[in-house]
Amino acid sequence: NVIIKAENVVKVYHNGVRALKGVSLDIYQGEVVVIIGPSGSGKSTFLRTLNHLETINEGKITIDGIELTHNKTNINKIREEVGMVFQQFNLFPHLTAMENITLAPRVVKKMSKEEAEEIAQKLLDRVGLGDRGGSYPSQLSGGQQQRVAIARALAMKPKIMLFDEPTSALDPEMIGEVLDVMKTLAKDGMTMVVVTHEMGFAREVSDRIVFMDEGNIVEMGKPEEIFSNP
Ligand code: ADP
Ligand code: ADP
Repeated sequence: NVIIKAENVVKVYHNGVRALKGVSLDIYQGEVVVIIGPSGSGKSTFLRTLNHLETINEGKITIDGIELTHNKTNINKIREEVGMVFQQFNLFPHLTAMENITLAPRVVKKMSKEEAEEIAQKLLDRVGLGDRGGSYPSQLSGGQQQRVAIARALAMKPKIMLFDEPTSALDPEMIGEVLDVMKTLAKDGMTMVVVTHEMGFAREVSDRIVFMDEGNIVEMGKPEEIFSNP
């Protein structure tokens, strides 16, 4: 059951950089795909096209049967179905963890405060921060902030989660706590596309590893195939 279908995707930035040169990839429901490749190879650009943060110049992307077009209705539907977590946690600094999580459900889904807070509390529990709902981002460690960012994305009940180097900005001792949350999500059957340098995560958690280089997918395979190569 293919949930993400990218066909010959080309992305050219305004400065003329061809960041994606014809990327095709089918991702199945419940699959965990890790994308690796050198800096500048187009990993982040590809991830952002899947969430419609970047529009594409050629090709076609279909998410859960919805084709990405410039149509606003489609964009809003896609943003609800596809959650994204960034390297910099991007929490609103003037809102508590609880308020960061309830904001989108209340504004976009018109949920009541009570209902949104009930869902948010469950998500805070799930990421191990059940007692930190009242904390502001500045009062949380990087690892805790990133777990709030994951909870915030999950609050929209996405079918797909995109992670763009989610642990790259973290101190080493906090990487594990974020990867553990991601592992649990994977086990629960979430479809995930993850750009990361964490080879342990790629080897243990992913179903497939995709290599990008210079705007192309140059290789892919199951972790056991990739890591058995000399
Ligand atoms: P990666 O995530 O693999 O490091 P990126 O997708 O960030 O690669 O970048 C791919 C190429 O596109 C790089 O050459 C980068 O400099 C360029 N690029 C990325 N974002 C932009 C942008 N907003 N405007 C212009 N060029 C960009
Ligand atoms: P990443 O960590 O994904 O490789 P970068 O550090 O390359 O990201 O880029 C940070 C930001 O700058 C991104 O929003 C990216 O889109 C933008 N960017 C990257 N390269 C360029 C570029 N050559 N021209 C304009 N913007 C760029």
